[in-house]
Amino acid sequence: MNLRDQIKEAGVIGAGGAGFPTHVKLDAKAEFVLLNGAECEPLLRVDQQLMEYFPEEVIKGLEKARQHVKGKKALIGIKEKHTKVIDKLERKIKELQVESTVEIKKMADVYPAGDEQVLVYELTGRVVPEAGIPIHVGCVVINSETALNIHRAINQDPVTHSYITVSGDVPNPLTAKVPVGMKIIDALKLTGINDFQNHRVIDGGPMMGRVLESLEGSVTKKSKGYIVLHKDHYLIKKKTVTWKQSRRINRSACEQCRLCTDLCPRFLIGHSIQPHKIMNASNYLTPNMNHLKRVQLCCQCNLCELFACKSGLYPQRNNTFFKEELAEHKVKYQPQEKSYKPHEIREYRMVPSKRLVARLGLSKFDEKAPLIKEEVRVDEVIISMRQHVGAPSNPIVSVNDEVQLGQMIGRAPDGSLSASTHASISGKVSSVEKDFIVIRGEKYV
Ligand code: SF4
Ligand code: SF4
Repeated sequence: MNLRDQIKEAGVIGAGGAGFPTHVKLDAKAEFVLLNGAECEPLLRVDQQLMEYFPEEVIKGLEKARQHVKGKKALIGIKEKHTKVIDKLERKIKELQVESTVEIKKMADVYPAGDEQVLVYELTGRVVPEAGIPIHVGCVVINSETALNIHRAINQDPVTHSYITVSGDVPNPLTAKVPVGMKIIDALKLTGINDFQNHRVIDGGPMMGRVLESLEGSVTKKSKGYIVLHKDHYLIKKKTVTWKQSRRINRSACEQCRLCTDLCPRFLIGHSIQPHKIMNASNYLTPNMNHLKRVQLCCQCNLCELFACKSGLYPQRNNTFFKEELAEHKVKYQPQEKSYKPHEIREYRMVPSKRLVARLGLSKFDEKAPLIKEEVRVDEVIISMRQHVGAPSNPIVSVNDEVQLGQMIGRAPDGSLSASTHASISGKVSSVEKDFIVIRGEKYV
């Protein structure tokens, strides 16, 4: 089996973000494979610890990906503040004798250093074209957990677990390897919190994550973490404002100061998105509706909304709404330029993570979330068939089947963009639906 098929068989997807199937991502020739180890979302601590505790596996997975796409170099993007991790990676690169192909690129501690297009620029000096993807400038981007999963796939070890950080207003913030399909509420309880009456939970990082309506869901292969906060915390209040409320506030209070544009990372790399103009166009339906189409250049980093705008408005929410509207009406922004140049002032407009954390009211939660060594055991998992971009995997097991940890339970349909799914515990299948499979652990069989 070649690497592509091994990765496909193991169900590897982008661990974080949208969950793009990795075997499809690597179906390309690229000059660079970039390891996104920037982990710029405040409080999340997965990637940095995977590079610290599994440097060999991460580097080997990355190097295999590089060889597969026939890349010249594999570049590891990591914040320079992680000196201990960088030392470990450097030693391992030497030990594995891959110095000629694997290189570490140190990054500033700013947000959003981990945005894919910002990362490409920081590591290679290339700007991904508007409405483009990294491969358009010869790059493929994967993160640390994906590289680790590639390495494991080569050893016939499919993706059954996900590494998550649970942090925020909890007794013991931590990072853990948990079975895919574990109930979110049980994952949260690992930190010692049991009463959620006065708390709300953000799925993902505090910047881009969304507040969960309920805690009934399950961990997926692309889960990165959960931030628990008091229900009255600024971030929870800000993120739970309805579209109608945000629209009313936006229309009444945008003073066109353009601070949102001045700090927008996509504007700063040379794209033509200008959130203040989008606000103007959408609030007052000005004749120049071209700006509205540029919402498609927004990466939803939320810097404009949660940091830049001093009036407390919702430019990101505005972008997301119109992005969805345009997608529904199949209206596409047509890039005007062929090449892009970052703004000269870019380096002076970086937002330091510490300042961002303070602005978000998270400073007292900005602490370590150590990776726990103990195995996390659960009695039941609810495994989604839709954890990835593309078509869902098709269930290939039936109720009452006994399955073993790592056994394929959902197969990616042939010829579709999809990924397969595997049992994350051994046990008996208790339910098979189109969208999910429930497995009860051995002790219940
Ligand atoms: S920063 Fe806020 S007030 Fe200023 S232009 Fe942007 S949305 Fe309007
Ligand atoms: S969310 Fe705001 S700051 Fe981020 S890319 Fe979109 S417009 Fe720019």
